[in-house]
Amino acid sequence: MITEAIALGQIVRCRVLRNPPTEPAALTETTTMLMKVSASPEHARAIVDRVMQSLKFFPLPSEIYEIAEATEVPKVREFIAARSCEECRGTGYAPALWLVTWEHGKRKRELIEKPIADLLRGKLAGPGAQNIYEASDYCGCEYGEHLRRARAAKEAEEEEKAARR
Ligand SMILES: [Zn+2]
Repeated sequence: MITEAIALGQIVRCRVLRNPPTEPAALTETTTMLMKVSASPEHARAIVDRVMQSLKFFPLPSEIYEIAEATEVPKVREFIAARSCEECRGTGYAPALWLVTWEHGKRKRELIEKPIADLLRGKLAGPGAQNIYEASDYCGCEYGEHLRRARAAKEAEEEEKAARR
């Protein structure tokens, strides 16, 4: 599962093929199919590459489905790029500092920069009121963003599954 924006970005490439849809509904159906069958943005690109190589007419949702089945999910290229990332050393995760505040039993957390954390340390009320915690977050590099997108897509898929039950 990928986002609708990414799917649409790939589907519009097919407009150079014969008989592109004039009805928005037809475009939506094909986009929705690509969104559902793509494992990642890289996979969506590979599927549409294959559509361009093999079809002369704008793809039907069923053609997207069939081509997706036959298109392997590409290995993540970003991982190699991220090995040079100093922040996360290629893991995609970077340590982050969170300022956690409890108010009327509710827990609120916000990401803070290290200099601010250093300034606040020792001045906070402590666990149960306000405290600083270290927990990893996705890195801002390409691979970290890839992991963040993959997580969001998976959550969206699970939400959809739960809603269908
Ligand atoms: Zn990184």
